Amino acid sequence: MKTFSNILVAVDFSENSEHAFDYAVTLASQFNAELTVLHVINEPVDLRGFYVPHISFEQLEKEIEESAVKMMERFCSSRMGTFTNFRTAIVTGIPYDEIITAAARMDASLIVLGTHGRTGLDRILFGSTAERVVRSAPCPVLSVRMPA
Ligand code: AMP
Repeated sequence: MKTFSNILVAVDFSENSEHAFDYAVTLASQFNAELTVLHVINEPVDLRGFYVPHISFEQLEKEIEESAVKMMERFCSSRMGTFTNFRTAIVTGIPYDEIITAAARMDASLIVLGTHGRTGLDRILFGSTAERVVRSAPCPVLSVRMPA
């Protein structure tokens, strides 16, 4: 029988991914699975629009990473409830690529993500993360849409 023992949930901290995340936690609890919560720092996008002449590029990267760590901590402590069998991962790169790579590396049995993420420029420039993950994932993908 197929089961889900190792679930990867991708969060961009949007409302959509919060909604998908709740399903991931429910499934992980039901299947007694380990849950990996992955956030990808989308470097080209997250750095665009910043012009901070008084700090170096390295310092800026460091600050973005620190802020991602804080957001992840806040996200997990506010939404994880009583579920404890989880770990978090923050990487830098192109979201769909990193999600697929992480799923392959950890031999994930399921990927959970939102059908939509943060709206706006990211999506227009880079297309749909969800669609690309569904096309190339090494395992089943649950994409969760926000209720209307
Ligand atoms: P998108 O297709 O970019 O609108 O995003 C769809 C879903 O992909 C989101 O709801 C998240 O679950 C996931 N996702 C998008 N961007 C990221 C990211 N930077 N890090 C982790 N997951 C992401």
